[in-house]
Amino acid sequence: MMEVKYPAPGSVHFNFKNSYARLPDGFYARIAPTPVPAPRLIKLNVELAGRLGLDIAELASAEGIAILAGNRVADGSEPLAMAYAGHQFGYFVRQLGDGRANLLGEVIGRDGVRYDIQLKGAGRTPFSRNGDGRAALGPVLREYIVSEAMAALGVPTTRALAVVATGQPVYRETVLPGAILTRVAASHLRVGTFQYFLAQGDVEDIRRLADYAIARHYPEAADAPRRYRALLDGVIARQGKLVAQWMLLGFIHGVMNTDNTSISGETIDYGPCAFMEAYHPGTVFSSIDHQGRYAYSNQPHAMHWNLTRLAESLLPLLVEEEGSEESGLASAHEALEKFGIHFEAARDAGMRRKLGFVLEREEDTLLAEDLLKRMAENGADYTLTFRRLCDAAAGIEGNQGVRTLFADPAAFDAWETVWRQRLMRESVSAEERAAQMRQVSPAFIPRNHLVEAALRAGIERQDFQPFEELLDVLAHPYDDRPGMERYSLPARPEEQISKTFCGT
Ligand code: AMP
Ligand code: MG
Repeated sequence: MMEVKYPAPGSVHFNFKNSYARLPDGFYARIAPTPVPAPRLIKLNVELAGRLGLDIAELASAEGIAILAGNRVADGSEPLAMAYAGHQFGYFVRQLGDGRANLLGEVIGRDGVRYDIQLKGAGRTPFSRNGDGRAALGPVLREYIVSEAMAALGVPTTRALAVVATGQPVYRETVLPGAILTRVAASHLRVGTFQYFLAQGDVEDIRRLADYAIARHYPEAADAPRRYRALLDGVIARQGKLVAQWMLLGFIHGVMNTDNTSISGETIDYGPCAFMEAYHPGTVFSSIDHQGRYAYSNQPHAMHWNLTRLAESLLPLLVEEEGSEESGLASAHEALEKFGIHFEAARDAGMRRKLGFVLEREEDTLLAEDLLKRMAENGADYTLTFRRLCDAAAGIEGNQGVRTLFADPAAFDAWETVWRQRLMRESVSAEERAAQMRQVSPAFIPRNHLVEAALRAGIERQDFQPFEELLDVLAHPYDDRPGMERYSLPARPEEQISKTFCGT
C-alpha cells in the first residue's frame, strides 16, 4: 500500500475561515506566493495582531516569518489572486487583478469582523502582465506608516500587519531592496471588481458578487425591499463620509482609480498619497497625475465618478429590481445624488468641530470657507493652523501661534475677530472647547519629509529607528507630546517634498 504523506501541521495558527475562495473559479486565480531567498522580519504590528487574535510569538517565529514572506503556506490558507478591472485615470482596463498580491485567507477578528490577510509583493500571478509581482521596501514602509497613521486618526482604512524584507532586489529605475507587506482589510472588493463582471457581461456573477458584498459589509441590505439599491446606497454613504474625513485632515489619496475604491468604505492603496502642508485646494503630489485629476479639491468629484461606475455595474440588478430599464436608471441616479449630501454633511459637521462650534448655524460654512481662503492666500500649514486654533480657543494668548503661520498675520486677525463673535453664542467653556477641538485636529500627521527620512534610513542604512519613532508619534496623533515637537512642524524649504511616486 502506498503511504500518503501529509505535510506536518504547522505551529502558527491563523484560524483561516475563507469565504472568497468559495466563490466560482472566475473570481480569482488559485496561486501560492513565490518563495524569496532570505526573509527578514522588519516590523510586526503587535496591536493589530492582538485585535486579530493572532499570537505574536507565533508570527515572529521562523515559521511565522516564512508565512509572511510567502515561503510557506499556512494551515488553512487557500492562497489566491483576485480578479478585477478598473478605470485608471479615466481609461478602462478590462483586466487588472492582483498582479503582485496574494490573498492568504480570512480571519475573524476579536471584534467579530471578517478580515482579509493579504501579502502584497508576493510574486507573479496570472494578473501580473509585465510586472515582476514584487514590491520595493520604500513603498512598503510608506504604506505601513501612512495606513497605520490613518487608522490612528480614526479614518477607515486597510491596515498593515507586517513588513518582511525578501533579500531579493527589485529592479525599478534603480536596484532596490524587495519587501512584502501583510495587508489587512475588511475585504479587497473594489468598484473594479464589479466592473470586471460587467465587462464580461455576466449578470449572474454580478449578482453573486453583490450578494457576497452585502453579506460581508452591508448585512442590513439583505432584508431591504430593494437589496441591490440598498447596497449601492450603503457604499455611497460610506464613501461620502470617507472622502470628507480625508479632506478634513488634508489627505490627498493621489490615485483614486476605480480599482483603488473599496466596497467596504476603507481607504485602500497608499501609492502616491500625501498630506498637504501649506493649504491649497489645487494641491497634487503624484508624479503621474499630470492633469490634477486627483487634486485635493477634486476628490469628492473623483469619488462620485467612481461611484457612478459602481452604479453602472449594478444597473442590471437595479433594472430587475425596479421592473423596467427606466426605473432602474432612475434608481441609480437617485442613489448617486445622495453622495453630495453625505459628503457635505460629514464635511460640515467635521469643520464645525474643528472650529469649536457645537451649535449649527447657517453662516458657519461661510466662516470656514473664509478661513480656508485666507490660508490658501497666505500659505498657512493646514494641520498646524487647525491645531493651534485649539490654543486660540483656549485663550486669546493662543492667537500668536496661529498668526505666525500666515504670510500676512493680519489676514488671520480679521477672520479671528468674526470667529470669536461666533464663539460667544456657544455655552461650552473655553477649556472644554479647546479639548474637544484637539480631538479632531491632530498635532501629528505623516509629514512627507519625515516619511521620506524614515524610509531613507531604512533603505540606505538598514536603520529602522526613525521608522519606529515616527510610528510611535503617529499612533497617538491627537495627543501633544513634549519633546516631539519637530514631528508636528512643516518641512523647512530645503526639506519640502512636492512629488510622490507610486514606486510600482
Ligand atoms: P496599483 O497601482 O498598485 O493600484 O496597481 C494597479 C495594477 O497594477 C494592479 O493590477 C496591480 O496588481 C498591478 N501591479 C502593480 N505593480 C505590479 C508589479 N510590480 N507586478 C505586477 N503587477 C503589478
Ligand atoms: Mg491598487
